[in-house]
Amino acid sequence: MSKGASPYQVLSQGVEFQQLDSRDAQTDNIAAAKALSEAIKTTLGPKGLDKLLVGADGTMVVTNDGASIVDRMDITHPAAQSIVEIAAQQDARVGDGTTSALILAGELLTEAETLLEDGLHQMSIARGYTLACDRARETLYDQAIPVSPDDATLQAVARTSVTGKWGRDASDFLAQKAVAAVRAIERDGTVDLGRITRKAIPGSSYYDSELVDGLIIDMDSSSTTPVSLEPGLPNVFEDATVALIDDQLTIETATGQGAVSLETPDDRHEFREYEQEVYERYVDRIAGAGADVVFCQKSIDDAVRYLLTKEGILPIERTRQDELEKVGRATGARPVGTVDDLTAAETGRAERVERRDVGPTEVAIVDGGRDVDQVSVLLRGSTQQVADETKRVVDGCFHVLSRTIEDGVVVPGGGATAVHLAGDLREYAATVPDREQLAIEAFADALEVIPRTLAASAGLDPIDTIVELRASHHDGDHTTGLRLENESGRIGDVVEGEIVEPLAVTERALASATEAANLLVRIDEIVAVTRDEDGHDHDHDHDHGPGGLVESTEGYPWAVGHSMGH
Ligand code: ADP
Ligand code: MG
Repeated sequence: MSKGASPYQVLSQGVEFQQLDSRDAQTDNIAAAKALSEAIKTTLGPKGLDKLLVGADGTMVVTNDGASIVDRMDITHPAAQSIVEIAAQQDARVGDGTTSALILAGELLTEAETLLEDGLHQMSIARGYTLACDRARETLYDQAIPVSPDDATLQAVARTSVTGKWGRDASDFLAQKAVAAVRAIERDGTVDLGRITRKAIPGSSYYDSELVDGLIIDMDSSSTTPVSLEPGLPNVFEDATVALIDDQLTIETATGQGAVSLETPDDRHEFREYEQEVYERYVDRIAGAGADVVFCQKSIDDAVRYLLTKEGILPIERTRQDELEKVGRATGARPVGTVDDLTAAETGRAERVERRDVGPTEVAIVDGGRDVDQVSVLLRGSTQQVADETKRVVDGCFHVLSRTIEDGVVVPGGGATAVHLAGDLREYAATVPDREQLAIEAFADALEVIPRTLAASAGLDPIDTIVELRASHHDGDHTTGLRLENESGRIGDVVEGEIVEPLAVTERALASATEAANLLVRIDEIVAVTRDEDGHDHDHDHDHGPGGLVESTEGYPWAVGHSMGH
């Protein structure tokens, strides 16, 4: 076959193609994705089980966060990897719902397998799934509950999002911290998450996690260093005046105006005097502006530090640029380009500037007091892994809270929304006269995997539960779902139980799962693509007829979707 006629020309040049498998690829892909979904199924919801993840280097993490598990799994199967990518996007875009998306994708593929066996064409399945997903996303708005972002609503959303990750008390505690952090930086209904600094530091329990109205600087991971040559300098400055200098407090000796030759003792004496003069000018400026603490973006000469500390001023040098800005937001100080521009007008105020040992590291805390544009959360855990895991879950919670504030709509959780959407899809399916009808019904069945899984996690019979939930929804109770907030898990009104989540999380989970399932349903061939050393592409002959339509599956260079239409 000539190069020009190769149906693989849609892929980039300089790669070698090798056809691996053309018959079992689909079954194999589906099996890999299903296995992944099965692996995390038991972690869903507040009664989900923990997984112990053991890394190759022996590190261990206990988690029941689906996103966290797939992130750490060593997944090599390309199809499973594509599913993981979609899950990662779910996490990045809305901060929650990853496990649900993965379980739903797995269930859609299980249903698809049956449909394929029954002779439904893969393209009919994909089209049916797309129709069902579009319909479900519309129907989702029937379930929408408009909310005002008061503390009680946000607390409910935060708790639903973090539930099951720790014990109930710890979940409540961390949910409260997350709500307080987001509310502190909320301005006119928008939330800029860049204004929350998060640090995970091991060596203590969750309950020692704290929220600071300002900035926490981890001295180990930041270039920022406080220097204190004077042992008498306190560790805590209350009601401190803060100055920010976006420059260095040193003397340029090599070049420029300050350059002097130091050949004779007189020269040296003269230079020392000059030096002393400059240093004193620096300190006069800083002290004259009334500063108690000075953050300097570059380095500070020893002599300047010494003079500053003698004046009772805490010098902090090599402050990272972003941290300088955040200190500014926390205190109202404006960074000056050179110390000569510093006056009292450019300084800001902090309720407290504190240096403290936290676990294995030293931190500086700049607490601006109330109404600051920068907050920080210090998340603790017994080990680094636990602290990091906590940070990850709380991060998701920040996302979910900002969504709730910005969109102002939530939907019932605990499987209630899934049951409602499934019921609607079954009615809708009956109105679709084509073969896609079967795929829409299958989509409805797949959606019920959420309440089924939640029921099973609480030891309830999944079949009885689904029957009961369907009956209740049929009677018009669209908020009936599983209430697993305490030991006696049962069916009830989930909104009453304050189990609600942002509409956007559910909507994205539906879209992600459908996208993932359709991607794998449509692929019936895997082609390995290896890059040739000298960049030439080498086509190997293969049995593709010229009629074979090949589409490039964007972002998945290993895969070639090969569909014949019908
Ligand atoms: P995901 O990664 O999909 O967010 P989770 O393990 O966080 O997975 O579980 C989320 C599911 O748990 C959602 O369907 C949510 O509605 C449900 N859920 C949360 N809290 C409760 C509760 N108290 N009772 C019943 N279901 C709950
Ligand atoms: Mg969750």
